[in-house]
Parts: sequence; structure tokens; C-alpha cells
Amino acid sequence: MSLKVYIGGKLYDKADAKVSVYDHGLLYGDGVFEGIRAYSGRVFRLKQHVDRLFESAQSIYLKIPMSREDMARAIVDTMAVNDLKDAYIRVVVTRGAGSLGLDPRKTTDPQVIIITDAISLYPPELYEHGLKIVTSGTMRNHPSALNPRIKSLNYLNNIMAKVEAINAGCLEALMLNHKGEVAECTGDNIFVVRKGEIHTPPIDAGILEGITRDVVIELAKAAGITVYERTMDRHDVYTADECFLTGTAAEVIPVVECDARLIGSGKPGPVTVDLLKRFHALVRSDH
Ligand code: PMP
Repeated sequence: MSLKVYIGGKLYDKADAKVSVYDHGLLYGDGVFEGIRAYSGRVFRLKQHVDRLFESAQSIYLKIPMSREDMARAIVDTMAVNDLKDAYIRVVVTRGAGSLGLDPRKTTDPQVIIITDAISLYPPELYEHGLKIVTSGTMRNHPSALNPRIKSLNYLNNIMAKVEAINAGCLEALMLNHKGEVAECTGDNIFVVRKGEIHTPPIDAGILEGITRDVVIELAKAAGITVYERTMDRHDVYTADECFLTGTAAEVIPVVECDARLIGSGKPGPVTVDLLKRFHALVRSDH
């Protein structure tokens, strides 16, 4: 059976799921999106994802043509139609088709698209042995230019950093902000462990407020671990006992090397491994 894609209230076969070439989502990256996971047929942190989508839209003057409740229902229904249990869900809202100019007032019909598909993950051995990352020369978007809190369709900033990582033989890049402080990776938030305590950059470092980041902070606190959201520089990463990344697709993934410096023992550390276990237990349980 072909996967069905939701566009504006209707379901289309994957091959027929299309939007206009005049859509400003395509022409200018003008729109917002979310990446969501479902585990055993339940959508993980659905409300938080829908809220972030609506907040991103609000920030770019984009009115999503449905309520938050209807959006949540459409996501769950699209999963059900495709009979998916463990899935990756991509929700996209574009500005809609318009003229060949920037003016959003010339657009009509924001397109609401929901794609539910199989999950593509990092290879399992990376969870066991850890990831190598490099610092990218491309800095994270300045919050006064395009705030990284907005999950916009314009991901070129992150793509440039991702290409740098790939060229360096890595799968992820560490991105710094305009002050040279640690911000986040191209599609994940970053944490370090030092003397049994956890440190992660604050939102005002210019990062996406990751939903997995929030979950991991909650899990760590519940396990009695102190978590600091504080300004970090690369020295903090190089000299950490452990490092890991969090994201909807990646979940919790250990980092064992940054810019050719081994982190800690060069193997995934005990705090990271424990948090990964706690994360798996949470997503498997009722949430
Ligand atoms: N930072 C960026 C730039 C991202 O694209 C993502 C993935 N959406 C994250 C962090 C992690 O966020 P989340 O845990 O909500 O997936």
C-alpha cells in the first residue's frame, strides 16, 4: 500500500502529494515545520510539538488555517491511515502559492502537509561507540537575523554546517553562535557531563528549544542529577567527561570526539548510557 500524505485536509498517495512551484515555502523557504516521533502507535510529546509549530508560525506572521486541536488530530489520523506504529512524522506549513516576489500578502492558501514515514536513524553502532563531531566554520544564525527558536523551512544555515561535517568525515557539526559560544548541532542539542553534573547551553545562546532536550533535562533531574543551562565554549566540550546530543530522530546519542580531541575515556560514559536507558524506558511507557 502506498503511503498517504495529508495536504490541506485531503489524503494523497505519496507520488501524487504535490504543492505549487509558486509556493513561497519552495521559493523562499517561507514556512515552518516539525519533526515528531511515534512509538508503539503513540505520538511522543504531541502537544509540545504542535505548540512549537504554532509558535514558530506566530513568530513569522504565518496564520495556520486550523486549530491546535485539529492539527493534533490530523497528525494522529494520518498515522492511523498509514497503519504506522513506530514512525517519523514531518509536519510542514508553507506560506502558500503567491507571486514571484517576497510579499507574503500576495500568497494564498498556506499548505498544511503531514508526512508519516519510516524513521531513518543513525547506525546502531554509533549509539554503542559514539559519534565524532567537528566545529563548523558556519556560525549558527544570529537570533536578530533569523531566531533559531523558529523551526523555519529555511535550514540552509544548518545544511552548510552539515556539509562541512560530512567533508570532514563526520555526521554532525558543532555550531557556535555569533559570540563564539557553543550553540547546538545541525539537528540536535548538545550536553556535556562534568563531575557527574550536566551542562547544556541556554536558549539565549541562540538554539532551538529542543523537545528532547527538555525531556532529558526532566529525566536527569528526576534521577537526582544537577543540570545547568549555562554559556559554554569549546573548551568545555573538549575537557568534558562525557558529551551527548539530543533530538527527536537521534534520541540521545553519545559523542566521543570533537575536533580530533577524545572526550573523556573516548567511549560513551555512564551518565549518557544511563540517560539513554531512561529515555528508552520513557518512550516505551505511557507518556
Ligand atoms: N536543534 C536543531 C537545529 C534541530 O533541527 C533539532 C531537531 N528538530 C533539534 C535541535 C532537536 O530538537 P527536538 O528535540 O525538538 O527534535
